[in-house]
Formats: sequence, structure tokens, C-alpha cells
Amino acid sequence: MSRLLRIVLRASRTPLRPTSILYRRAYTTSAAPPPSDDTSPSSSLLIPSYLAQADNSPTDPSSPRGNHKYAIDILEKHIKISENGQEPFKVLFSTLRDACKCPRCVDPHSKQRNFRTTDIPLNIKISECNHTAHGMEVRWTNDIAGYDESHISEYSFDYIFNPDYERYEMTTTGKLRERGLWNKAMLKKFQHWISYEDYMKDDEAFSAAMRRLARHGIIFLKDIPNSRELVEKIATRMGPLRNTFYGSTWDVRTVPEAKNVAYTNQFLNFHMDLMYMNQPPGFQLLHCLENSCDGGESLFSDTFATAFYMYYAQRELFNALTKFNLMYEYNHDQHRYSRKWPVFQTKEMRGKQPDSDSEITIYRVNYSPPFQAPLTRHMINQIRDDEVEINFKALDFFARRLESPEHVFELKLKPGQCVIFENRRVAHARRGFNTSEGRRWLAGAYVDDEDVISKFRELRKAYPDIWRTREEKQREDARISRCNGNDISRLLDPSKTAESLRNWWER
Ligand SMILES: [Zn+2]
Repeated sequence: MSRLLRIVLRASRTPLRPTSILYRRAYTTSAAPPPSDDTSPSSSLLIPSYLAQADNSPTDPSSPRGNHKYAIDILEKHIKISENGQEPFKVLFSTLRDACKCPRCVDPHSKQRNFRTTDIPLNIKISECNHTAHGMEVRWTNDIAGYDESHISEYSFDYIFNPDYERYEMTTTGKLRERGLWNKAMLKKFQHWISYEDYMKDDEAFSAAMRRLARHGIIFLKDIPNSRELVEKIATRMGPLRNTFYGSTWDVRTVPEAKNVAYTNQFLNFHMDLMYMNQPPGFQLLHCLENSCDGGESLFSDTFATAFYMYYAQRELFNALTKFNLMYEYNHDQHRYSRKWPVFQTKEMRGKQPDSDSEITIYRVNYSPPFQAPLTRHMINQIRDDEVEINFKALDFFARRLESPEHVFELKLKPGQCVIFENRRVAHARRGFNTSEGRRWLAGAYVDDEDVISKFRELRKAYPDIWRTREEKQREDARISRCNGNDISRLLDPSKTAESLRNWWER
């Protein structure tokens, strides 16, 4: 597997994020035994390479890409690809066959595969293999039934070594995308506004707004015509509406004897929506139609900034919240839901050295006290008393920091304005308001995470310059650490100049 990664590093012609390269380069092969013979199993192509290991030999970032020389050897069961005398990458014939995307194997229109992995005979062999301009073409013996000798599989080394799903997750558009963390001062200074007209009609401006949403988790629209229908139009520009028992769109207004605290005029503390569901919505929209009451300001806080701060400054408390599961519930006559989530959901990246800490990336925070279910005896009994105490302490630390004035961005939405925010990143709250005079009416909608991420990817393809990070553009120094530590130091350092802050914000 290490060999795969080595080739990944050297073969990628597409602009991998330098930080990704850093991570891969930093892995070690010392624990991975070298393949001793040709019978060692290799299913490497099916495993995302960031889960695998690579070598720790430096890769020269200045070396020209797309200019490699590959030697191809056909062994008994494997194909071996070597580059300039480096350690080779080996893959089983059957695994390579599985990756064929020729028009016979994958329908060019529907993009559906016309064969099953289980159709591939285990005794499939390569009868012929030749270099092409960007990779190789392969002919088969004992191919899948129905394929004759005219079937030629073509592979670009770029595709084999750097498959799409790998690119997606780690880029600016993926689930593990790099985030720009913020506090009150940062968001106050750089909050992104776009007019309704530009949002709906100017694809480039819309793309830029989506890029801000992907990175910072919150954007604002203004100059929206006064119509209850428009929240749907704004939402469906990103993706299909997420329907729930609240309706495909819904209204936040004061109603008598409200079942949900969001419909009353009390202070509503920081929370995320629908955490009692299996798939809480990814993004939320709130379009202000009326807001003439005294009070009713919207509050937002970046849970990722607090989580990463805890990662660096309070590791024990951070670790506790990655394991502390909280149950959420909604129990009314006609709607009964419950779901358990850990507070922090993280993905571990391999450590830079064999004995060093792993790096992590946070891809979700789950936090919604108003809908929390009791910590039952059953849950408590599963863990020791001292662990329970750490959990409480960690949750308290998280909440206090999240709610502290320097982290809370406050805004009273005006009629004609709309906020869009990432539900499981940006916690939201609302100040109480006085209903004795004036009116307050917000129209809301949700769009699911995967639909918005799909939109991000579509826009990235159409406007690559908007979506590439500065690092990607410059393919610069791989020593820049993954955003998180970097971001935290900048957030905590008040001496940074306005310009350096803006550079960082717009990265
Ligand atoms: Zn094929």
C-alpha cells in the first residue's frame, strides 16, 4: 500500500492541495513490510490513499509534473508500475480490471457501470499492455463473459493514482474541506453579503458566495423582494428543499402555546436544528419578512473555532467530546424522534512521525441543548464516574467559550435579508423579543449537506479560480500546516494586521 501512495505523490498531475501532500509525505513506511513476492494481495485501488501510508522521503515540489517515466512490468497476478527506479506500485489484475471506465464498461450517458465486480474472473490476465500519452492501455485474457478481444481498457496514471473521491473530500468542496475559523471580530469585519439579484442571476457572484459558505459556514443575502415564496427560490439555487414535518419551508412567528421553543418570544440559546433526526439538515436559511419587535436579534457562533481551540489548548476535554454521546429527542403526539450523536465528529489523519500525535480534522459538531434528552441511567452506567465528570467539564468548557462575547456574532435581520448557514457548524441563537408591539416573521428552509456539496463541486468545475485555495494556486510551500492550527494562532493573535487577516480570510 505504501507503494501506491508513493506513486500517488509523484504521479498526481492535478493540483493536490499542498497540505494533502504534506500529510502524505509525512507518513512513514517503516511499519509497512515491503511486498515480498508477487502473491501479496493488493486491493490498494479501493482504499482512499489518505487512509493508507506513504513514504517519508521528500518530494521535490519544484519537480515538473506530468513528466514522469513509468516502467510497466506484468507479473503473475499483478501489474507493477515503477517510476525512475523508485519503489514500484503493484495492483492485482482483477483490481485494475475493476477500474475500467471505457464506454463498454461505463455507459457514457448514464455513467452507470455495465458490469459487477463479481463478474470479473479471478484468473483474468493481462495479454498486452502499452504506454499511451498519459498512461497505459491494457488488453485482457479471461475477461468478463461477453467481452471479447476488442475490449481495451485505458488508464491514465493520473486517474489511477488520484481517483475522484479522494480529490473531492480534501479540496475546498469536500466533507473534509478546509475551513476558515472565525470569531466575532472576524465575522464582523468580513461577513459576506450578496444581493438577491446577484445571487439568483450572476453565476460568478453566486459561486463566490458559495465558496464563502463552504469555508466560513455563513453568508447573508440582501435586497430580497418582500415575498414569502422567495426563501424557496433562494434555497433551491443551492439544492432541493429538505422536507420535514415542519414542511418544505416553514415560518418562525410567535404563536400561542408553542410546542417548539423557537416559536415563542423567549431567549433561545445556542443550538442546531433537528439533531433528533437521523440526518439533520446541512444548511439552513432564514429569510426575514418582518422584524419590528424590540429584540429578536440573531446570534451565531462558530463551533469549529471553539472545537479546534479545545484541540490545541484542552486536548483532554476535546477528546472527551469526541466520545461523549448526547441523545436528542422530540416527543409530541404526532411526531416522535430521537437520535444520539457525539459532540465532535472528527477524522483522524495519520501522524507526521511514527510516534507523534495524529492530526485531526473536524467535520461536524452536534450540539443542541434545547432538544437534549435526559442522560439516562443506562448511558451513565456505561462509563465510569470520573469519565462522566470529565464529560460534564468538557461540555461546560465548550458551551462557555461558544457563548462568550468575543465569539458571538450578533445581527438583527432586517426585512429583505436572509442568512444561510451550515447547521452543524454554526450554532445559532435568538434574543428574546417583545411581542406587545411590532411583528416578527422569518421564513425558513433547509437544504441537505450532500446536495450543497454537490453544488460546490459543480461550481468548482465551472469557476476553478474562485474555488482553488491560494495554496493550490501557488502550489506553494508544503510546510503550511492544515488550516486549523494556523487559523487558531491567527485568531488568538491580535497583532495581525488587517491585511494579513484579509489574506487569510479570503484564502
Ligand atoms: Zn472496459
